[in-house]
Amino acid sequence: NLFHAGQINGTTGYEEAAAQGIVAGINAALRAQGQEPVVFPRQESYIGILVDDLVTRGVDEPYRMFTSRSEFRLLLRIDNADRRLTPRGRALGLVGDIAYRRFEEKYAEVERVRTFLRGHRFRPEEAPDAPLAGKLDPSSVKGHTLEQILRRPAVTLSDLEPVLRKHGCWANVVVRRSVEIEIRYEGYIQQQARDAAKLDRLSARRIPPDLDYHSIDGLSREVREKLSRIRPQDLAMAGRIPGVTPAAVSIVGLQIELRQRKRPSP
Ligand SMILES: Cc1cc2nc3c(=O)[nH]c(=O)nc-3n(C[C@H](O)[C@H](O)[C@H](O)COP(=O)(O)OP(=O)(O)OC[C@H]3O[C@@H](n4cnc5c(N)ncnc54)[C@H](O)[C@@H]3O)c2cc1C
Repeated sequence: NLFHAGQINGTTGYEEAAAQGIVAGINAALRAQGQEPVVFPRQESYIGILVDDLVTRGVDEPYRMFTSRSEFRLLLRIDNADRRLTPRGRALGLVGDIAYRRFEEKYAEVERVRTFLRGHRFRPEEAPDAPLAGKLDPSSVKGHTLEQILRRPAVTLSDLEPVLRKHGCWANVVVRRSVEIEIRYEGYIQQQARDAAKLDRLSARRIPPDLDYHSIDGLSREVREKLSRIRPQDLAMAGRIPGVTPAAVSIVGLQIELRQRKRPSP
């Protein structure tokens, strides 16, 4: 029943300590209420990566959080931290009504601007003094959607300001930044989202906490010992333990299936 955070877990740094502190605090409170702990997936937040690395990889030297530790850096951006974590905070009762309403308003505005950019076709005569002219020949993008124009190198929403203002879609800088990033990097972001979804599927395959790794044929002694010591919660986590090969993960997955099949249906 102890929940630790910070140096005692092998990390160094203020943010690292604070990130673990909030997770430890939340889970201590949930435990006291007899509820299941909350797990932050690594594809959703740096807090998730930090905790997952500490649990699955252990530490030989003081651990610091670097963005390079994430395999989903296009998904874990500063501009969308609120989108990733506010709903979770709200569900835990940690985000008040006012903050949550502001969050909803921001993303409603992001969607509104995106819908406009997706649907509106550029007419040079609509905004003859648009700064866009300084970046490209406006007649060359006549009839293109504003979204397509925004994907061009060096074009920003500010270049389209007169058109956006005319249609009541000139949003504040935070919304504009979010819209620009999502449109400009959409292809790459979608690719990473697909990779994250694959990880989600593996994460959904839970490993029974009482699984006896020593009785599983085909696993090396080293892998058995590591899995028995770390006791990963799911197959994705098992695969991240150094030395646990994809083949070993498949064997564990097969064992779980066999166990489920053997279990009499209720
Ligand atoms: C000189 C120095 C400079 C640093 N500079 C930076 C920096 O610039 N940026 C950065 O990110 N990190 C920096 N760090 C690292 C950072 O300070 C630590 O990683 C972080 O504070 C660890 O937080 P913590 O809560 O785990 O431990 P601590 O902040 O050490 O908190 C532990 C607390 O437990 C208390 N305690 C200990 N034993 C007991 C007991 N038996 N009973 C009750 N209470 C007890 C201690 O008094 C202390 O208040 C620096 C560290 C040092 C030493």
